[in-house]
Amino acid sequence: MTNPFRYDGEVAPGEVRHLRYEVGETYLGDPIEIPVTVLNGEHDGPTVGLTAALHGDELNGVKVIQEVADRYDPDDIHGTVVCCHVLNVPGYLAQTRDIPIYDQDLNRAFPGKPRSNTAERMADRIYRTFVEKCDLLLDFHTSTRNRTTMFHTRADTTNERVDRLARAFGANVVISGPGDVGSLRRTATENGIPAVTVEMGKAHRFQPTLIERALDGVASVFAEFGVDPTATVGWPGWFRVVPADQGDKTWLRADTGGLVEMRWGPYPLVREGETICTITDHFKHSEKVVEAPFTGILVGVLENPVAQPGHPLCHLVRIDETTRDEIQAEIDRGEFDGYRQRGLRWRGERSELD
Ligand SMILES: [Zn+2]
Repeated sequence: MTNPFRYDGEVAPGEVRHLRYEVGETYLGDPIEIPVTVLNGEHDGPTVGLTAALHGDELNGVKVIQEVADRYDPDDIHGTVVCCHVLNVPGYLAQTRDIPIYDQDLNRAFPGKPRSNTAERMADRIYRTFVEKCDLLLDFHTSTRNRTTMFHTRADTTNERVDRLARAFGANVVISGPGDVGSLRRTATENGIPAVTVEMGKAHRFQPTLIERALDGVASVFAEFGVDPTATVGWPGWFRVVPADQGDKTWLRADTGGLVEMRWGPYPLVREGETICTITDHFKHSEKVVEAPFTGILVGVLENPVAQPGHPLCHLVRIDETTRDEIQAEIDRGEFDGYRQRGLRWRGERSELD
């Protein structure tokens, strides 16, 4: 038998509750409330936390969590699922990454303090009330605006429990490292709650292909940890763990200002020496060709087509021959990332669809 899930109130075993939880106040003195769904299962099991919109304009995860909260029933669940639909409510209302006015990054404010700046006060309320009650945590993000990111996870895979969670979620690429100080993922992991960040697509959009993949990942995590005994774990085909601090990945940056045209594609697999993009001046007098310094996959790409020196163009992760062949075989079978399978492309004119 599960215990009740306690916040200020109590959600009994077998109950689902949609609630709004106050984490701050507006200028008008009105409450700032985060929407939360607690699904407390009939049967015993772990407490899984799902969080989104810690950055207010990163929306794919909001849709993922809306679907999880709707699809699962407490009768089916072993344990408890805590769905924090939107964490950075002020940023969400303004559609900005950070908390407006002082541009505070809520994802650098954990675990927070009750008597500190706005971000740390909000973080403190969220962390004590919901995160600390969890046994596992998935935190959903996208790239920042003007860029897009391939579906991947970030996790400290040197921690066995985190590694198990990242593998169960089933993204092909895991960028491994402890994460930024003050981030929800790092703080939770350091406090014994294995946490994984999911990075998927771009800000300000719902991207159905990626949302479905994330829902498959959640189902797979539920299977692996016994939350949903009827589900099966969906291990990824190829799998690559990239240490965050080694030369296995790099941000290629512009060295000249100008107009950027992406040349890679349609799949984000590039070979050493292949042209990734060009940067031309407005008169087309000069063209700078940006080549892949090594064979790899593009996990992040600039979408805004203008750049100045230092602007990031793309984030390239090195892959070995075996992985490259596995990816190529998936592409040939039409299975890579599911993009072609669903008639959608990762990049291109129809990008509003994917
Ligand atoms: Zn984010």
